[in-house]
Amino acid sequence: MSTNKPYRVLLYYMYVPIENAEEFRDEQFALCEELELKGRILVASEGINGTVSGTVEQTNRYMEVMKQDPRFSEMVFKIDEADEHAFKKLRVRHRPELVTLRLENDINPLETTGNYLSPKEFFEAMQQEDTVVIDARNDYEFDLGHFRGAVRPDIRNFRELPNWIRENKEMFEDKKVLTYCTGGIRCEKFSGWLKEEGFEDVSQLHGGIVTYGKDPEVQGELWDGQCYVFDERISVPVNQKEHVIVGKDHFDGQPCERYVNCANPACNRKILASEENEHKYLRSCSHECRVNPRNRYVKEHGLTDEEFAQRVKEVQELATT
Ligand SMILES: [Zn+2]
Repeated sequence: MSTNKPYRVLLYYMYVPIENAEEFRDEQFALCEELELKGRILVASEGINGTVSGTVEQTNRYMEVMKQDPRFSEMVFKIDEADEHAFKKLRVRHRPELVTLRLENDINPLETTGNYLSPKEFFEAMQQEDTVVIDARNDYEFDLGHFRGAVRPDIRNFRELPNWIRENKEMFEDKKVLTYCTGGIRCEKFSGWLKEEGFEDVSQLHGGIVTYGKDPEVQGELWDGQCYVFDERISVPVNQKEHVIVGKDHFDGQPCERYVNCANPACNRKILASEENEHKYLRSCSHECRVNPRNRYVKEHGLTDEEFAQRVKEVQELATT
């Protein structure tokens, strides 16, 4: 690594049978706590999926300890440099699945999965005829950035993806199907599921978008926008050759790569908004969310009833002009 930032963010997963996964959860928690790592780790009997941050020494030590365990000796760690922790706390949870897909017939990626493509292979495959690229992430992730020409499944949640594919089957029939996601883990089962569904030529981007952006040859080429990440950074760059903004401000449609959460706690939807529009629209995705009695923006800014009424009126006038 060429730069010398004091912190690192690790992203990793491995499908490997883990006996007594709940006990292993406790061991992971103790290890990370001792190393003063922060982040989120999921443990299941089918493997581990984690993203943690810490100093260079702390994260090095973690990788060392993990690789001493024969189950994880082959685990690939994607490493990002950072100025500080990317998480506020440490959470280690036991789950039935590493990625919630809840298939009627579960897929074991160690037995059934799409072909693994390196960044270079994926870059070339994307540009071939009769190829369709499916983004295996959620809509708000796609909206911030995606591979040029990729299909955007209209889903809020990964487990909705199989049904969405079934409903839109004609888009993919007789095509070479490529899938990608942030770090590669969502594609492991999803690409296997596609094969079980009868799609014959299915491939996945090995190591995901994060690896693609770091690859010295492709350097993130054909990626537009930013990559959404599930930590305090919210987004990271991918394409080192050019930066095309594809995100659009929820309120005025202008190019935008700044995510905020809707101030209505019951909604909490991620919306792209400039700082100016965040204030103008009280960080609310809709009128209903704006006037919700629990609106966080109103509380945070200590608006009086009169001020609030005036601000809402101003937004309504904007809508009619
Ligand atoms: Zn909302």
